[in-house]
Amino acid sequence: MKLMIMGPPGAGKGTQAEVLVKELNITHISTGDMFRAAIKEGTEMGKKAKEYMDKGQLVPDEVVVGMVKDRLSQPDCEKGFLLDGFPRTIAQAEALSKTLDEMGIKLDGVINIEVPREKLLARLTGRRVCKSCGASYHVLFNPPEKEGVCNNCGGELYQRSDDNEETVNNRLDVYEEQTQPLIDYYKEKGLLININGDQPIDKVLADILAALRK
Ligand code: ADP
Ligand code: AMP
Repeated sequence: MKLMIMGPPGAGKGTQAEVLVKELNITHISTGDMFRAAIKEGTEMGKKAKEYMDKGQLVPDEVVVGMVKDRLSQPDCEKGFLLDGFPRTIAQAEALSKTLDEMGIKLDGVINIEVPREKLLARLTGRRVCKSCGASYHVLFNPPEKEGVCNNCGGELYQRSDDNEETVNNRLDVYEEQTQPLIDYYKEKGLLININGDQPIDKVLADILAALRK
């Protein structure tokens, strides 16, 4: 399957994506994870992206689009993929549509996880992420078995530098201004699958899988 998962920062995209890609045997493409890897490696692109990420702004479209185009042409995407955190603007969505057309690929669906804004600050400021595998935890809502340690791989958990209150508020404003219009864009294309994300993690997953089976 060729899918996309969208929703505001903190909606649970990464949490659901981790399980969905295993369940469906498809490749996870998270642009946020790709930028964090580039920052860690110290590449020029990573340095440029960090300036925007630290402020809670979007990295310029041309940088993201080029990166995703390269990623989609890798052989592991042939079995299917789940785009997570991309596209985030109408211009990105149009570039994606053109790229997929050129590759002869059609998207099967766009999962839109809905969570009210007032719930997102607590989700993001309490988020902890595994340094090794990127798995997402929450100090209260989804704690690891052992504090500070990843259940999956034993990696060390850390707090993302953009998960502080001020940057989170910027990210949520940017989402409402630039990314929310994509909901109508994909609805018009008949691809949108709305999912209530304000439920326990297992229930959100069950709802997504049930909707995909339809
Ligand atoms: P996103 O990738 O959409 O930014 P994450 O998947 O990283 O979001 O989830 C954000 C935070 O919210 C994490 O700390 C995660 O553990 C927590 N979380 C995810 N889904 C739920 C849920 N259904 N209920 C409560 N907390 C959740
Ligand atoms: P995420 O991990 O999805 O929360 O993304 C973290 C940050 O990476 C965002 O706040 C942006 O600065 C940047 N980013 C990730 N994906 C994109 C994208 N598709 N377009 C622009 N910036 C992005």
